[in-house]
Amino acid sequence: MGNYDLLKYHPYIWMNGEIIELENAKISVLTHSLHYSGAVYEGQRAYNGRIFKLREHTERLFKSAKMLYMEIPYTKEKIINANESIIKKNNIKNAYIRPLVWRGSETLNIINSKLSINCMIACIVSSERKSSPLNLHISDWRKASPNVLPVQCKSSGHYNMMIIAQSAAKSKGYDDALMLDWRGYVAECTTSNVFFAKENTLVTPITDACLNGITRQTIIELAVAKGMNIVETHIKIADLHEYNECFITGTAAEIKAVASIDIGKNKLIFTSTKITNTLEEEYKNLIVS
Ligand code: PMP
Repeated sequence: MGNYDLLKYHPYIWMNGEIIELENAKISVLTHSLHYSGAVYEGQRAYNGRIFKLREHTERLFKSAKMLYMEIPYTKEKIINANESIIKKNNIKNAYIRPLVWRGSETLNIINSKLSINCMIACIVSSERKSSPLNLHISDWRKASPNVLPVQCKSSGHYNMMIIAQSAAKSKGYDDALMLDWRGYVAECTTSNVFFAKENTLVTPITDACLNGITRQTIIELAVAKGMNIVETHIKIADLHEYNECFITGTAAEIKAVASIDIGKNKLIFTSTKITNTLEEEYKNLIVS
């Protein structure tokens, strides 16, 4: 989507405490976070005018900022209200919403107390994206270990690797890449969590090397309520043939079935979407309830 569409359909943005026209929301080319990639953000969705799990996303935004030693100069309540006000101002009921926190352009020093902490919230119309089950491969790149970058920090720094891994996957004809962690265990996809299923059991990686996604947590709650067994564990590639079902979860993707994973020597084919469909149905009911 070009900038023209953004201006035409979503002309307002919340920036540093006020709603202004997107056209006037300008920042400097010397912006610290542009040079050193120290920004944190959220990806949220509104369904029929209500932002799903807004408090949880706001909590995570503040936690991510704190991990990067950034103090957001607003209260959580103020950010929650700002999110709600910007979809109203743009008159969008079904939205993808992007809060972003970044360091300003006062200096290019790596650390300097004069650096401002800025915050903006933009939103765009989100559409129903029906896609066929995904074909994944295993990325050659590994997720950073927790002593390289804090795993639960939704920082732009993590996404350099995700862009490389997703570009490589797409260039080879796959929809996305399954990332392994530094030990070689299955971690997550580039922008979503992953689940494997067999009979009444869901298996998903422990979140010591992947984001504990808000959708992931919601799906676990829904699955427990449906009487399913949940196993959070370290998963090896060699274990994956035990499952006949696989799906990914994320705010943008919601729940998407995985058709296959190319593991190099051969391709794992997932023949069932039974549990995925059940949980998708439950999730759809929840987001509009
Ligand atoms: N893992 C990564 C790396 C992500 O970028 C996302 C999207 N935020 C997720 C998992 C899913 O998180 P959530 O369900 O909170 O959107």
